[in-house]
Amino acid sequence: MSTQVLPEQDTRPEGTDAPDDETPEVFHYVRKNKIVESAVTGSYVVALCGEVFPVTKQAKPGSPVCQECKRIYENLPPGGDE
Ligand SMILES: [Zn+2]
Repeated sequence: MSTQVLPEQDTRPEGTDAPDDETPEVFHYVRKNKIVESAVTGSYVVALCGEVFPVTKQAKPGSPVCQECKRIYENLPPGGDE
């Protein structure tokens, strides 16, 4: 392993321009009716953790789930869907 000293302007925040798909994509918990609405209209949804994003993908079995969303979801009272 060799160490290279890079010019300072080459320093970037991590993960901003990774060319490949190594960043694990997490899925957030969003109300189902909101997902449908977003998929149709392209509107943004707010996940349980407060993350705001347009729904572009459906979670697949085994997809990593946002830990914060999961924690909140598990603490929701049963039958609390309005
Ligand atoms: Zn989340």
